[in-house]
Amino acid sequence: MKRIVSIGECMGELSETGVPGQLSMGFAGDTLNTAWYLRRRLPVDWTVDYVTAVGTDGLSNRMVDFLNGEGIGTDHIRRLSDKTIGLYYIELKDGERSFAYWRSDSAAKQLARDVEKLELALTGASIAYWSGITLAILAPADRITLIDALRGFSARGGKVIFDSNLRPRLWESPDDMREWITRAASIADLCLPSHEDEASWFGDIDAEATARRYQRAGAGRVAVKNGAGEISLLDADGQLIVVPVEPAAEVVDTTAAGDSFNAGFIAEELAGGTMVKAARAGAALAGRVIGARGALVRQATGA
Ligand code: ADP
Repeated sequence: MKRIVSIGECMGELSETGVPGQLSMGFAGDTLNTAWYLRRRLPVDWTVDYVTAVGTDGLSNRMVDFLNGEGIGTDHIRRLSDKTIGLYYIELKDGERSFAYWRSDSAAKQLARDVEKLELALTGASIAYWSGITLAILAPADRITLIDALRGFSARGGKVIFDSNLRPRLWESPDDMREWITRAASIADLCLPSHEDEASWFGDIDAEATARRYQRAGAGRVAVKNGAGEISLLDADGQLIVVPVEPAAEVVDTTAAGDSFNAGFIAEELAGGTMVKAARAGAALAGRVIGARGALVRQATGA
């Protein structure tokens, strides 16, 4: 069956409309962004499912309706009657964006609590995609549950794809972050980190060092993003291949650059492309996404 599951947290996004006293409401989150771009890039015989937990309230229903409307499967979303979704607010001041979050008690923190439901979500999928943010928001016991479920999925022939997406503020400590991220990468068939973050928190001297560190940890293959810099690919044999990126003519908003890159990369590989072709496809999509405002840029997908 051609089915890919993306696992993580989608939040409500509140942003200024420009009209005083009026906010607009959208939905975004790293793994949801990738699912959204995957849905628009993959042929219709592929199913893209989002795996998360939401409430049973009106706002949660709006999110589920949004996902369905975008063609993303919602059958494996947990519904919790005593929780609701996380929210964030984007403030624009002198062209700079800053964020305020209400997510510390969001339903998504319990996405791995029901092991049977989690296993059911993975059953029959060929790819499971998740990130360091997915891992960060979970309680330690749930992190183990999710890692074990993905390890089992991988042992049964599924492919696990992981974007480390380092967010130190979501972790108990930088050491915890490094330890869990390294564990998660160890079960990945493909790891998709971004060098700048990795250099800050793991001290990698260059993108190759990031790639080799994750392969040493156990990742099968690695593709390291590096802003406008080249993409460093490490294949399953440990061979390094470097793919140049064409610098964007205009950078309007880099939100979801990495998330859309991942979707372009995965979709190209599923179409039979090599890692190099996949990196080019990811970079082309991300290059268009950063040319417009927002995380989900319809005109960038050409679909
Ligand atoms: P993240 O968004 O995860 O921090 P990066 O900043 O490394 O990730 O960007 C992800 C991808 O987006 C890059 O690999 C590249 O393809 C594309 N990208 C980012 N910035 C630029 C840019 N200035 N010009 C062209 N492409 C870019």
